Amino acid sequence: MTTIGVLALQGAVREHLRAVKACGANAIEIKRKEQLAEIDGLILPGGESTTIRRLIDSYDFFDAIQDFGQQGKPIFGTCAGMILMATAIKDQDTAHLKLIDMEVARNAFGRQVASFEADVEVHGIAADFNAVFIRAPYVVKAGPDVEILATYNEHIVTVRQGNYLATAFHPELTDDNRMIAYFVQMVKKAVAST
Ligand code: GLN
Repeated sequence: MTTIGVLALQGAVREHLRAVKACGANAIEIKRKEQLAEIDGLILPGGESTTIRRLIDSYDFFDAIQDFGQQGKPIFGTCAGMILMATAIKDQDTAHLKLIDMEVARNAFGRQVASFEADVEVHGIAADFNAVFIRAPYVVKAGPDVEILATYNEHIVTVRQGNYLATAFHPELTDDNRMIAYFVQMVKKAVAST
């Protein structure tokens, strides 16, 4: 059976585990880099990107996650996870894992509307996805190989580049599992092609 790991250093881990299981795949918490060998796809959850990055370094996950992606194994970043995957972060000198060719802005929707829900059309996945945004980022620049799957108020909020997927919102916080199901399918296809 397809097994998907959720990086369990900080953030919305349990909700992702529930959603992955609801989509009929195995879901495990990843707390040590050695566990990456047991999974077919990885989710980087929402939370606080700077905190997650600090823990990625303390637990020596940085190279291991990049290697995982370079092996063609799918990675899905949600909210803080999207920030971790970007090659550039607005107003910051350095970025994190640099997996998707994009620049993101943190807390991009501003303080007044820090958290909100909106119906978003995600191309090929859902015409009306109820997206939960919590101090969410958005993509300010996407490279030529980046597919834009969703925008909200003209801001890019879902992207895919090869086996990498990222959303600015939290798809695991509602009962609508279509976004996670899409990632599970990406993982199944990646397994089938190896
Ligand atoms: N604003 C957070 C950050 O910069 C992300 C928020 C979230 O993941 N819900 O890391």
